[in-house]
Amino acid sequence: MNDSHLNQPGLEYSAPLPWQIPLWQQLSELFESKQLAHAYLFHGDSAMGKSQFVSALAHFLLCQNKSSTSACGTCANCKQGGANYHPDILQIAPEEGSKDIKIDQIRAMSEFAIRTSHTGAAKIIIIHNAEHLNANAANALLKTLEEPTPNTYLFLISDLPGRLVATIRSRCQKLNFPTPSREQASEWLQSILGSSAGIDALLNASGNNPVRALALADGDQLQTKQQFLASLCELALGKVSIQFVLGLSAKIGELDVLGYLASTSSILVKCLLSNEETGKEPREVEQPTLALYAVLASSHDKVNSTAKRLLRFNSEVEQARRQLAASTNPNPQLIMESLLWHWSKIAQSK
Ligand SMILES: [Zn+2]
Repeated sequence: MNDSHLNQPGLEYSAPLPWQIPLWQQLSELFESKQLAHAYLFHGDSAMGKSQFVSALAHFLLCQNKSSTSACGTCANCKQGGANYHPDILQIAPEEGSKDIKIDQIRAMSEFAIRTSHTGAAKIIIIHNAEHLNANAANALLKTLEEPTPNTYLFLISDLPGRLVATIRSRCQKLNFPTPSREQASEWLQSILGSSAGIDALLNASGNNPVRALALADGDQLQTKQQFLASLCELALGKVSIQFVLGLSAKIGELDVLGYLASTSSILVKCLLSNEETGKEPREVEQPTLALYAVLASSHDKVNSTAKRLLRFNSEVEQARRQLAASTNPNPQLIMESLLWHWSKIAQSK
């Protein structure tokens, strides 16, 4: 069994992706020459496959008989664990039902760090969503970072490295996670989906993020998203009511809808500002988003002030996402109602 094949909800793919290979090889060479740093912070766009990459890399590094990008699956070390488990790899993330990584998890990590490895080789600790370390956990982690254990490596992963305390950031080597060109993204999607049909639409809908595009391709997600964006446009034009869009949101699921709102509002801000600067109309943007752009661009407000209001809207959406994900707010409908009200005010300001 090849440990570098990790499951992604829906369609499967294996890390490293073609545009991630240079980073993979760089880290692998550092490891082989015993020059790998004690701690790395992998950061960059969300849903770019950082967790899959780092988990697969950890299994790969521990393999005793590796090829250039994959573990052998048959050596003593590969046989120690399965695709998602290895006794010398410790994976840490917020536990189910909690939004924080807690001090108990980091204490267990410190014990793992000083233990002897099962195979006499290296040990690897992976901290997913590291921005969720709470204050006590971050303090405890700092001790491990300050007093590294030989042959034990720490890989932190974060979409929001700015939310990590500076003392942790400064003790890690920072790695900005690679993103693909349009051609690379398109070629890779074709190789997985087996056809080029619809790939442009998928990449446009996902902001050129092939991993997110793959999730959209799985099932009718793309259609659902486009249907929701079309209803936002109709709301802006006064053709449907907030109640109608609320009903649709409940049917789709509020968390998914908040995801659409977050990505679409940030794409719209970029389109507005880039049009203001270059005079060019947006390219590589999906149809329903273009329709929303047309509504906003026809507003009598200055482009900058529309963009500013959208940015405020975007941070409200992000806050709502955090609340809903942490279940601290029991009423998703109320959150959606307030956001949709705010959206209709931005779009209808003429
Ligand atoms: Zn192996």
